[in-house]
Amino acid sequence: MPKRVLIVGGGTAGWLTAGYLARMLGADRPGGAAITLVESRDIGILGVGEGTFPTIRRTLARIGIGEADLVRRCGATFKQGARFVHWRHAPGQGARDHYLHAFQQAETNGPELLPYWLMGMAGDMPWDEASTPQKRAVDTHRAPKLPSHPDYVGPLNYAFHFDAAALADLLRDQGIANGVTHIVDTVREVRLGEDGAISAVVLAGGGAIDADLYIDCTGFRAELIGRALGRPWKPVGDTLFCDSAIAIPVSYPRPDDPIASCTISTAQSAGWIWDIGLDARRGTGYVYSSGHIGAEEAERALRAYAGPGAAGAEARRFRFTAGYREVSWHKNCVAVGLSSGFFEPLEATGIVFSEVAAGLIANLFPWAGDFETSARQFNRNMRRRYERTLDFLKMHYCLTSRTDSAFWRDNVAPASVPDSLKELLDRWRFRPPNELDVDANVDIFPEASWQYVLYGMGWHTDLSAKRAVFRYQDEARQAFARVRAQAAHAESNLPSNRELVRFAQRAR
Ligand code: FAD
Repeated sequence: MPKRVLIVGGGTAGWLTAGYLARMLGADRPGGAAITLVESRDIGILGVGEGTFPTIRRTLARIGIGEADLVRRCGATFKQGARFVHWRHAPGQGARDHYLHAFQQAETNGPELLPYWLMGMAGDMPWDEASTPQKRAVDTHRAPKLPSHPDYVGPLNYAFHFDAAALADLLRDQGIANGVTHIVDTVREVRLGEDGAISAVVLAGGGAIDADLYIDCTGFRAELIGRALGRPWKPVGDTLFCDSAIAIPVSYPRPDDPIASCTISTAQSAGWIWDIGLDARRGTGYVYSSGHIGAEEAERALRAYAGPGAAGAEARRFRFTAGYREVSWHKNCVAVGLSSGFFEPLEATGIVFSEVAAGLIANLFPWAGDFETSARQFNRNMRRRYERTLDFLKMHYCLTSRTDSAFWRDNVAPASVPDSLKELLDRWRFRPPNELDVDANVDIFPEASWQYVLYGMGWHTDLSAKRAVFRYQDEARQAFARVRAQAAHAESNLPSNRELVRFAQRAR
């Protein structure tokens, strides 16, 4: 008998997991797993989530979606990182009002550059500009690659921005093509057996479905892992204060206006605004703490930011409780997507957690033996990922010098900073983050990401005591010059983001 997998929920998490597992578990091959997805017509998908992380390229390739299809069907554009504006200083209060968290690692063809930058060898050039040509590429709205590069390959590291609802449709079509059986119905009851595992789900339209493994992709409702199995949600609102968002689409003044090649994240008095350039519109949203600002005031601030391009556009409002489940896999049920965890939209960690979970399930899939071993490993891995990501996100807030609102003052209160993050920051007083600080098995963000945020926020690492160790000063100077030359080359040779999007739209 093939193993039977039932996925409940057809949002991004459900269809991404379905399409991926169908490929990885051989749903279209004799002896492969049988994958069924049931989604409700009455309960919509969340339909936000327009920013992604570079891992999405490999995930989409494995699912079988081509880059041009993604661009054509989802209004997708190319994203090379996130620009953070006014996170360090309130408007008008600091010399430099922004930094880039670039996807590209610093140049490595020579000595490690960061210590030399810390010792002032790149002059007063900020770290993002000194270490990667991607800063200039983003500032000039360049794409990360040429039209001639193959799908998902380019000289600069990248991800995508896209229309979330259109992506769910594309994932659905590809999932069905990959061999997923699709049922449109609402699960109205989850039956448990004597051992406490799920024995079947009962559909509103009649009948019940049983499976070997149930995957809960029902979003914040968490019908299986939460309501039926009672695995608790661990809230982290003491650390990350944002619990609400308002989103508004914004039209471009002219159809050929430049498309930003990064997510623009602008700090506000009680949170931050995302600004994401798609091909036909921008998506903007104010992510805020309801304990620090009311919904009406937040919407006014968002509309003031968005300007005339948002006139008449309807605002969508969201509430969430930042947190995660320490146990996302319990007996024969595993949660993926919002039912497993969600912090906030910062750094686009929503979809990437679904990618990671789908990858782990494919690897740990209990073809034989019991589920307990897989569950233990899955839970341990995901828990660590959530903890580490929580530290990374909090670092964006707690290093601020802003004192202009209660939100920012509260964010630096020591009680709001996890001990694990305090320990990291202690380490980085006298040495910069390096590979010792990350674990590729659990970390979503490489050391370069920590470095971009840390030094973008003005962190000081004092290397004066070990100055004598850094002997490759000439080589470092040459490497900084190389980055500058690469930046000039990128600016003059890469197409604009919009040009590459247009090319992909025309490609067959
Ligand atoms: P949903 O989209 O809520 O889908 C739930 C599915 O379950 C639906 O198909 C529904 O029909 C089905 N369902 C529910 N109950 C039943 C039932 N009883 N029977 C049958 N079916 C059922 N992530 C990013 O990566 N980047 C971002 O930029 C980003 N921005 C975000 C901004 C906001 C404001 C929020 C709140 C989230 C954001 N996220 C982002 C997270 C991202 O939106 C989610 O990770 C993603 O949409 C996955 O959602 P989901 O599939 O888990 O849930």
